[in-house]
Amino acid sequence: MIELKTPAEVQQMRPAGRFVADVLTALTEKAAVGVNLLELDELAHQMIRDAGATSCYIDYHPSFGAMPFGKVLCTSVNDAVLHGLPYDYTLQDGDLLSVDFAVQLEGWVCDSAVSVIVGTERPEDRRLIEATEVALASAIEAAQVGNKLGDISWAIGEVAHQYGLSVNLDFGGHGVGRTMHGEPHVPNDGRRGRGLKLKPGLVIAIEPWFLETTDEIFTDDDGWTLRSVDGSRGAHSEHTVAITTDGPLVLTARG
Ligand code: MG
Repeated sequence: MIELKTPAEVQQMRPAGRFVADVLTALTEKAAVGVNLLELDELAHQMIRDAGATSCYIDYHPSFGAMPFGKVLCTSVNDAVLHGLPYDYTLQDGDLLSVDFAVQLEGWVCDSAVSVIVGTERPEDRRLIEATEVALASAIEAAQVGNKLGDISWAIGEVAHQYGLSVNLDFGGHGVGRTMHGEPHVPNDGRRGRGLKLKPGLVIAIEPWFLETTDEIFTDDDGWTLRSVDGSRGAHSEHTVAITTDGPLVLTARG
């Protein structure tokens, strides 16, 4: 079922969005050569405790997960792109790190992700991150009352194709509200003018993610982390966006 929020409820989601943005900012500032993924998870965990928020990840145990997630953050490095389970790994120069974070605060969930390069940049990594950011911006622009869900999906796919990237449709965006995952599913490619009509109060996580030379992934032995089948790197950008009569409201906007 698709739940629409009242304007008051959309406003009630703002603290969760601001908090998620603040945590991602703190994490991207801390991410550096020599920092362990477990330190990033601990930083996020401490911020959750300090804010009185509730992690959406730590007890998360969907049918495809081998066990409860156990951490508060997804950290996906290089050929990992989604659902990266933090482990004892120290970031190296040139690593491409994607961080995905969702919490519930004051009863509402927001969800956001960002990719950064640690230390020395490779131009192809910068370009890959840029593709996800441009796709996200284009999709947000399409998140207007009266448009269709397919317009958002199409906007993402169009940017991917412009960058010569192929799109995996197994994982995409989703409705957000009291819980992390709701209807509708928001595919990262689609047909313009098709699908659900966008109404005020629809709140969705939009999350383009691309791999450099494939659209196929496999699950790591840890039971969670999704990696590219060919070892090519991935990037991921996500915001929680409310569709309002005043246009798209990016609840997780940083800075
Ligand atoms: Mg997310």
